Amino acid sequence: MRSATEEIFLKACRVIPGGVNSPVRSFKGLSMTPMIVESGSGDLIRDVDGNEYIDFCCSWGPLILGHAHPAVVLAAQEQIAKGSSFGIATEVEQKLASCIVPLIPSVEKIRFVSSGTEATMTALRIARGYTGRPKIVKFAGHYHGHSDSLLVQAGSGVSFVHPIASGITQGVVADTICLPFNDASTLRSFFRTPEASQVAAVIVEPIAGNMGVVLPEAGFLQLLRAETAKAGSLLIFDEVITGFRVALTGAQGLYGIDPDLTCFGKVIGGGFPAAAVAGKARFMDCLSPLGQVYQAGTLSGNPVAMRAGLETLAQLERPGFYELLEKKTARFAQPIEEAIKKTNAPACLQRCGSMFTLFLGARKVRNKDDLKPLDEERFALFFRALFKRGIYIPPASQEAWFISSAHTDEHLDYAAQVIVEYIHNVLPN
Ligand code: PLP
Repeated sequence: MRSATEEIFLKACRVIPGGVNSPVRSFKGLSMTPMIVESGSGDLIRDVDGNEYIDFCCSWGPLILGHAHPAVVLAAQEQIAKGSSFGIATEVEQKLASCIVPLIPSVEKIRFVSSGTEATMTALRIARGYTGRPKIVKFAGHYHGHSDSLLVQAGSGVSFVHPIASGITQGVVADTICLPFNDASTLRSFFRTPEASQVAAVIVEPIAGNMGVVLPEAGFLQLLRAETAKAGSLLIFDEVITGFRVALTGAQGLYGIDPDLTCFGKVIGGGFPAAAVAGKARFMDCLSPLGQVYQAGTLSGNPVAMRAGLETLAQLERPGFYELLEKKTARFAQPIEEAIKKTNAPACLQRCGSMFTLFLGARKVRNKDDLKPLDEERFALFFRALFKRGIYIPPASQEAWFISSAHTDEHLDYAAQVIVEYIHNVLPN
């Protein structure tokens, strides 16, 4: 007899391509029926068959407070009761913008959209509109959503398709220059070529999350800032994952960099569809209705998402929030790091605050080239072993894991113990 999960997935496959509305949900390469979730509470998710899992994916990053945080639920419910969408300006949009601007020095103005894809797409358009230049630079393995020009050599689910995803024109590909992350000499050389004068913007995940978590090497982001400034190109920080995740001031606060534009998403909507492009007024004011760079959205600045985002930020601003998150993540990561050291297993845990990746098959990852030896079958075995023990991690090897403030010490210790046992018993073989 089929489980409820199998039944629903079979039905979904008849009416939804691949049965899912985002490819990374399909458990591709894991030889399993993908999970069909029924509900979530705190650090737990429950599937439609009643199985519970400790969740280390947290909706791919937004749920920094865990599932169904009572204050966020209440705020969203209050707003829904007053009307869920108007297509007319609301006060809560101004409140959320006014809350973010003083937190982040590079942000003078902010425009809310509904997804990270829209935010990065709009940031590129502003850069092209402002500079009048056609080209953009991105880094191999970085993912910035699924707009055409950003799908070239992208990370996350895109890494499973051809380096240039199907459906993208040669013209778009020619305007996207892809460089290796953390490679200062290639970056310097590029900015000495004539092509550099054609570059409207460089877009970067300052802490990469979509080829697994890869931190910037000392001086790399500073070099990027200096070279873009010299070349007259805009520097766009894609902080869709890192914004409000690694610190209230994001990666730019941690590394002391002043980007021209920043993209936010995930945490900013408290689990609802909200994202934003933000930055210096001279760039942001290029946007319509003030300027000629067009961007619009029926649900942009949706009041329910804005209320959820506002309530989430209020929780993050409580004294000690990020310290607690760091403590929880360290409690989980330390025994795993010790086990890797002790067994000399071919693995590494790379992390910044509560975002991290346990790479199996690599001792250090600094850019996409280091991911070549990763063995997907090894990851599939690992994923299934954890899943069987009630632990849900992102269902692909090159993704970021997340811990929320709702993760209990008991659950963190249990999950760490299961992984430590796996490292001792399975990994070296
Ligand atoms: N930028 C980064 C760094 C991301 O991780 C993502 C999504 O995971 C995006 C942009 C796209 O965001 P969305 O999925 O909301 O379109």
